[in-house]
Amino acid sequence: MRTVTAFSTTAPKAPFQKTTIERRDLGPNDIMIKIAFAGICHSDLHTAWGEWGDVLFPLTPGHEIAGTVEQVGGSVTRHRVGDRVGVGCMVDSCRACENCLAGHEQYCLNGFVGTYNAIGRDGRPTEGGYSTHIVVDEEFVLAIPEGIALDVAAPLMCAGITLYSPLRHWEAGPGKQVAIVGLGGLGHMGVKIAHAMGAEVTVLSQTTAKRDDAIAIGADHFFATGDAGTFDLLGRHFDLIINTVSASMDINAYLALLRLDGTLVNVGAPPQPLSVQAFSLVDGRRSIAGSLIGGIRETQEMLDFCAGHGLGAEIEVIRGDEIDAAYERMLRSDVRYRFVIDTASF
Ligand code: NAP
Ligand code: ZN
Ligand code: ZN
Repeated sequence: MRTVTAFSTTAPKAPFQKTTIERRDLGPNDIMIKIAFAGICHSDLHTAWGEWGDVLFPLTPGHEIAGTVEQVGGSVTRHRVGDRVGVGCMVDSCRACENCLAGHEQYCLNGFVGTYNAIGRDGRPTEGGYSTHIVVDEEFVLAIPEGIALDVAAPLMCAGITLYSPLRHWEAGPGKQVAIVGLGGLGHMGVKIAHAMGAEVTVLSQTTAKRDDAIAIGADHFFATGDAGTFDLLGRHFDLIINTVSASMDINAYLALLRLDGTLVNVGAPPQPLSVQAFSLVDGRRSIAGSLIGGIRETQEMLDFCAGHGLGAEIEVIRGDEIDAAYERMLRSDVRYRFVIDTASF
């Protein structure tokens, strides 16, 4: 075991505090990563505040991890000491079910092991990236290409792949009208990636406050959903809508914006149910779908795609003792566009 520094919380909404946690000894296939940066995902907040159910406290969240390889187990072949690497939402899966074998470990039929708030293969709770080091099996460690700095790469490990996967699956590209609902951590990566894929991109945000930023990162159009008239204006317009909103909302108003055979993909994960009217779907043969992060192979593909297009996240770098304030700002939709913790501040 190795004792490392971390920021952890002990109860829903209890402040984060600097503490120590134990990392397991390296197995033959394990990698010890020195974490440089960890992004703050809204899922960290949903989990830490108990909004998604039971929490294994004390909790060290963080599944947008970027750093360098410090040490490798005897059988490791994929990464070497000094390599720039990332870890996302998963640190293990069964690797034998049909979904794992197809490269969709996020849909592992036996349940993937989350980077935090899960039970690892050693029987101990997993703990995430708000810490200086983490030990991860090499198969769940991604290579961060040269050309993407570690701080702007960290949010790609969840926000990046969560938008890349549905944009690829539903074939965003030239000639496609794509809307991104909510310009937060996920949404702003969706704008960048959909634009790079060649789609015509519209941002639907609550107010006009983020308009200039949206256009600057690649949006073709921007509408405030709080403006009377936006929904009438955009009726039956989009082939694909990706909803990243972290709170409950009237999904029917957004379904009405889909053209014939259009799909609304929900990636936002509020604890409350979404209420769908039958007529929102039958009119226009519309679909509603969901999507969860992406598989390991696809995550590497996303990182290479982002490097090839010069894409990283827009970030605000914070210290470990600023996590509570960052959560409060994220909750107010006041994040531009991802908080990233610098572990050098620990
Ligand atoms: P975030 O940075 O807080 O962004 C969410 C955005 O949604 C806000 O910036 C805001 O955008 C909009 N929004 C917030 N409250 C709203 C409300 N009441 N009504 C309308 N719009 C609202 O969060 P995130 O990290 O991007 O995560 C978003 C959601 O995705 C969370 O629920 C998270 O748990 C989930 N998630 C899912 C996956 C997956 O695999 N499916 C992966 C990661 C995260 P505007 O200011 O532009 O309106
Ligand atoms: Zn996340
Ligand atoms: Zn599996």
